[in-house]
Amino acid sequence: MKRLSGVAASPGTGVALAYVYTPDLFEIRSEGVADPDKAVAELADALAALAADLDEAAASTSGAAAEILRAQAAIARDPALRAAAAPAVRSGEQPARAVLAAGERFATELERTGNDYLTARAPDVRHICDLAARGLAGAPPRLPPRPIEPCVLVAEDLMPADTAGLDASLVLGIATESGSRTSHTSVVARGLGIPAVVGIRGLLDVVRNGGAIGIDGGAGFIVIDPDAATQRQLSSAGTELRARRERMRTAAGTGPAATADGQRIEVAANVRSVKELRSALAEGAEAVGLLRTELFYIDRDRPPSLDEQIALLREMHGMLGGRRLIVRTFDIGADKQVPFLPARPERNPELGVRGIRLAELHPELLDTQLRAVAATAALGPTAVMAPMVTTADEARWFRSRVVASGMPDVVEVGVMVEVPALALTAEELAGCVDFVSIGTNDLTQYLMAADRREADLGGFQDPFVPALLRAVAMVCRAGARRFWIGVCGEAAADPAWALLAVGLGVTELSMQADTIPAVRAALRGVTLDACRDAAMLALKATDPDQARGIARALLKESP
Ligand code: PEP
Ligand code: MG
Repeated sequence: MKRLSGVAASPGTGVALAYVYTPDLFEIRSEGVADPDKAVAELADALAALAADLDEAAASTSGAAAEILRAQAAIARDPALRAAAAPAVRSGEQPARAVLAAGERFATELERTGNDYLTARAPDVRHICDLAARGLAGAPPRLPPRPIEPCVLVAEDLMPADTAGLDASLVLGIATESGSRTSHTSVVARGLGIPAVVGIRGLLDVVRNGGAIGIDGGAGFIVIDPDAATQRQLSSAGTELRARRERMRTAAGTGPAATADGQRIEVAANVRSVKELRSALAEGAEAVGLLRTELFYIDRDRPPSLDEQIALLREMHGMLGGRRLIVRTFDIGADKQVPFLPARPERNPELGVRGIRLAELHPELLDTQLRAVAATAALGPTAVMAPMVTTADEARWFRSRVVASGMPDVVEVGVMVEVPALALTAEELAGCVDFVSIGTNDLTQYLMAADRREADLGGFQDPFVPALLRAVAMVCRAGARRFWIGVCGEAAADPAWALLAVGLGVTELSMQADTIPAVRAALRGVTLDACRDAAMLALKATDPDQARGIARALLKESP
């Protein structure tokens, strides 16, 4: 039995036989090319054909997989990649070898930036160059993994083409040697609800095809050749997780979410794509409380057009059927860079130009986005909010752009409270916003001065830290009878924390789809007064465990 740790990429546990996926190797002729000009043209044609194939594949799928395929098509179409490979071909190199070398140079440069987002794109560049080289060398296409019995899929990394047709009833877990929480494998695994651990160093050296393997995607480890006790533990944890989800779905009830004494609390979903919206609606989401629009901007060589944005919003309104859609304007910057804006070397990007700060530098991008929201607002209740707002002046500037975009008056205008400065001065937002949504992920990061992606600083991210609870209370006091208050950070997904927030005055909770039933069920089990009493006690707590204990005492079933 051997235990290996990696990055916890998608929760859930399981035990099955390992299916080790290694794409077949191919050979490239060693002699030089006879006609370099013709070979350069072949290289350009191969990349263009690949881009067209990827676009076609994107058109026949949806959600995260489609977005990833479109992003890969953009890499294949990138003139810089062609230009980087061409000189070697002109000096007689086989185009397949030249494109692999150019891709490796590009990927290494991305990795050297030290930026999480750009580093996570390096495997895409390598994958695209591998596909192009296969075509140029006359090799058969890369065949995706197709297990025929239940397995844990093990690979160096998985590409969108590998995961597009994965059958979640056969793939009980995914373990990869490379990857991060934001890499494609992780995004796709979470989307499909498959437990996954990525970034496991030395994985392929120790795992055997067909050997038993256990996985815990929430804790971030795998066990090779697990003993009987570990197998039992991992299988029962998986069964218990599924059973608990089912119980919560039943306990969540139907109809509008409310406390036992009828205080209405909207339970909404955080989504990034049509696919995520579909899952959220299936889990009982009453609205979209946070549409993260960044996915629409990253991985593209130019910003999305007005028409493209209108098409996406129209589709979402259609699915929502009269439920509210809160569009967060793009939160680009920090770890979410876009290729079409000049790179901004910043010493500390988290404290740099991101969110509304970037919108102030590129108002044309914001205006197009707001015009798309305005153009679709008649299709359903709509709200728009800006990320990373620091001062009431910025909120006023945002509102002025919203008005200038021709936004109908019925569209509510809000801002996210993610910066401590805004939490401290929130009463100044009166008269300028209809609502605020507290982004507890960033608010905690900035309150505690602890990078939210840094696993070693995880203790600072605890949503029950006194500083966060008191900041939420402060915003609620500032908003009383002036604007309504929602929470869209991860904290809202913790049923016990959500009840404290309700006690403090929050009336909307927005979260990832799979946690909706548990929060709805928790609300049904308490009265508003009980939430208020617990919140008052929790505000006096001097450490997170004390506050958590007070909140958990409100729950019928412990989390
Ligand atoms: C937050 O910061 O809490 C939030 C919801 O925004 P994001 O996680 O997209 O930064
Ligand atoms: Mg945020």
